[in-house]
Amino acid sequence: MPELPEVETVVRELRADGLIGRVITKARAFWKPMIAPLTPAAFAARLKGQRVQSIHRRAKYIVLTLSKDDTLLIHLRMTGQLNLDRQKAERESHQHVVLQLDDGRELRYRDTRKFGRWLLTHTPERILGRLGPEPLSDQFDQKAFISHLRTRRRQLKPLLLDQTFLAGIGNIYADEALWTARLHPGRIASTLSATEARRLHVAIRHVLRRGIRNKGTTLGSALSNFQRPGGKRGQNQAGLNVFRRTGLPCLRCSKPILRMIISQRSTHLCPNCQPAKA
Ligand SMILES: [Zn+2]
Repeated sequence: MPELPEVETVVRELRADGLIGRVITKARAFWKPMIAPLTPAAFAARLKGQRVQSIHRRAKYIVLTLSKDDTLLIHLRMTGQLNLDRQKAERESHQHVVLQLDDGRELRYRDTRKFGRWLLTHTPERILGRLGPEPLSDQFDQKAFISHLRTRRRQLKPLLLDQTFLAGIGNIYADEALWTARLHPGRIASTLSATEARRLHVAIRHVLRRGIRNKGTTLGSALSNFQRPGGKRGQNQAGLNVFRRTGLPCLRCSKPILRMIISQRSTHLCPNCQPAKA
């Protein structure tokens, strides 16, 4: 599932590929729930003629600012992929939205599980305003984070996945950050010492920056795994320390990595480096 580094990679590569400034000449949506509450006809009519003014990321959302005071929010969810390609007559399998552009290319959206969402809105803040701070921005202040953790009686793993607490983290980078900070994912946030909380703050930024530098994590080789625009793979899977390394030796202490379920989420940890109690 694409998380902050994967979505950031998609945004940077679409920007570098010249999506900004392009005019949408035709929009087609083939899977109604993806663009709800608009109908495919309303979606097409509203997008036609709009220019892409900017593209950026907020949490796991791709945010396209359009010319008519409109914003397109795209959430890739489990298996969404975006490609900027030459115009083609035929639609490939699992392509559910196609935006034709004025330079002879198309922005094509493929999603095998179909959980992705495209939301065209005049009021993006209604959704984006509910999200927690961006972990790589100045909003993510260390002192504020430490005092915020003290007030939360939740386990660290579900707390890190809570997008209203902190934006952009999913299963991969939560496990990687907790291993890096040597904290058990089941620890209650309010029990962390200031030193432990500081370690977690540094670790979150470290694993996300590394993920972006490596252009995201592509697990496996199936069509449904994360792909960068153009079908290219990310490289961060080679840099993972704990995620999906069940039974393999911990890279710090050589004890086997354990997989357990915490708050219904598959979680990977080193029981030696990440003890259940401080
Ligand atoms: Zn270890």
